[in-house]
Amino acid sequence: MHGLFTEGTEKRVYYKTDEEVELMRQANLVVSKTLAHVGAMLKPGITGLELDKAAEAFIRDHKGRPAFKGYHGFPASLCISYNDIVVHGIPGKREFKEGDIVSVDCGVELDGFFGDAAFTFAFVGVEEKTIQLLEVTYGSLYKGIEQAIVGKRIGDISYAVQEFCEIKHKYGVVRDLVGHGIGRALHEDPEVPNYGKRGKGMLLRDGIAIAIEPMVNMGVRNVYQENDGWTIRTKDKLPSAHYEHSVVVRKGKADILSDHSFLQEEIKNNSYLQEITPKN
Ligand code: MG
Ligand code: MG
Repeated sequence: MHGLFTEGTEKRVYYKTDEEVELMRQANLVVSKTLAHVGAMLKPGITGLELDKAAEAFIRDHKGRPAFKGYHGFPASLCISYNDIVVHGIPGKREFKEGDIVSVDCGVELDGFFGDAAFTFAFVGVEEKTIQLLEVTYGSLYKGIEQAIVGKRIGDISYAVQEFCEIKHKYGVVRDLVGHGIGRALHEDPEVPNYGKRGKGMLLRDGIAIAIEPMVNMGVRNVYQENDGWTIRTKDKLPSAHYEHSVVVRKGKADILSDHSFLQEEIKNNSYLQEITPKN
């Protein structure tokens, strides 16, 4: 989940202490294990509603609160966005099937701190050119994270994502939705667009925590919102990918607080899913 782009004023930037970073790591651990739990359940015939129900129970069993539920009225614990749905999909009754890609975005509040991460899963039967979109988008997440170090600026992260996806691989980088600061709130400043200019934007210092989340379309970058007030789809109906980590700049470096290794393990064990590795 992310904020709509509003030309942030950077009024709500909170630099985290080491103690707060560890609390954020715990919240992100619940996020990461919830994504793995969902990955283990993915099979043909399962619905978003079933996944959402299981995720909510899992989060609450781990003493967390689903951060998306009730956020500006969002009705579910997960955003589940498949095929041409970019983000903010409301879990529904549609049964997933071979050939689908399914983005799962999860947010958790634990002990007053927030975690946020996302992953686009691919069922078997997804065509190679769509796998390529996922792996490039996933790779761009790490290109962005590489820039999340002391002395760089938000624009360096933004440019790294855009350069890889749009200039190198000719995909459409979504402009309407952006990454964000995170910590005591699900969305804090600064905004973290997936496009921008090197050397521009807020200077990164120790303690700044952000969710980096490329949203990348196979075709045009244009998207529209459905009448439900949430679901964002690609204008040309082509697929879209979304990968997200919560990251803190700490001791000069990028410290990734969320962890995809749990879900990667479940993908290996789930014969209905294809492995997705970040493209370099
Ligand atoms: Mg998210
Ligand atoms: Mg987010």
